[in-house]
Amino acid sequence: MKKTLILLLLVSFCGGTPEPLSTSVEEKKLIVEEELQNDEKQILEEESKLVESSEDSVNSIFWGATDAQPEVYAASDVSQETIEITAEWVDKAIELWGNYGPLEIWIVGEGKDEVIALDKKWCEVRTQKDPSWNKKWDCANGDPYDSGDGWSPFYRYVNEGGAAVSSYIRDYIGYYFNALIMSSKYPGPEEEDYKKVILHEYFHVYQHANLSVPATDTDGDWRTSNRNIYFNGDEVQVPFLMEGGAEYMAQYWYSKEPGIDAGYLKQEMEYKAQTINAYLNEGRSLRELGYNESFQSYDVLTWFVAYLIHNTSEEIFRVNFWTQIEDLGFEEAFKSNFGKSADVMIAEFDEWATQPIEVLLEIIP
Ligand SMILES: [Zn+2]
Repeated sequence: MKKTLILLLLVSFCGGTPEPLSTSVEEKKLIVEEELQNDEKQILEEESKLVESSEDSVNSIFWGATDAQPEVYAASDVSQETIEITAEWVDKAIELWGNYGPLEIWIVGEGKDEVIALDKKWCEVRTQKDPSWNKKWDCANGDPYDSGDGWSPFYRYVNEGGAAVSSYIRDYIGYYFNALIMSSKYPGPEEEDYKKVILHEYFHVYQHANLSVPATDTDGDWRTSNRNIYFNGDEVQVPFLMEGGAEYMAQYWYSKEPGIDAGYLKQEMEYKAQTINAYLNEGRSLRELGYNESFQSYDVLTWFVAYLIHNTSEEIFRVNFWTQIEDLGFEEAFKSNFGKSADVMIAEFDEWATQPIEVLLEIIP
């Protein structure tokens, strides 16, 4: 097994007393995570016009399958144990789905001073790897911690917790990379959910790795990013198969880990099935659901992926579909792998999902 390179900034352990959290809190935080990601994107996108992009450098920048080990950066109040468990589960995801990058893992702790030091480290790493990095806007700036007027890559995670992947593949930067950010709560590293969230986040790395086209966003609006159109088949940023895929893959592969109860996946999906009625009653297509619905959109999206896989196979979803998106585009890749258009499949799913939960659970391995 590959050893993950660990770069520890300062070694000091601050013993916090994290609280166990329910799955529903985890789900909420996963939603927050996406908002953070979008905010970050937006800030970058807004500033994109300030930087001249070079076509030549774009084509030569590395992105995708790699032998390189992920780099881990942790705040000084993050324990060695947390760093190890994080690295262990990223390595596990790499073994399951392949090694993609460049990948940086950033772990935020509980302390404000420590996270401010991590903001500084971020800027150091960025400018060292990419001389064209926009230090003024894409390093910490202003006063995000106290007045809230400003930005840093990590400030929100201290209070709000959660996890995220931000993919920095933009036509105006000189080094592409994925930043996988973990924090100390929602879930905390002592929770079982922490491991599943790492799998979920790493699946986002895998998804992004399969599309090598950088985001152009010439209108400065991340919602109309060309990458977004590839992934979701729409010009509006929606979770759809990005989130449904990451969540089902995380739960499914976690359920196959040694020591996990044989009924684990059914139990988890039974919990998620409670959201289906709210979705059906609402009446909007599942591909239009956003991150902030009155119900947990991820739950229904996860069920849709379970349904796709039941009708085809895990490998067709994970390998064939995701690796053909770049060549075929979203709609065509969907049709050629699942046998019908996304809209027709959703209509079928909506019909199928009206059945009692016990019937739905029959498709869960
Ligand atoms: Zn996600």
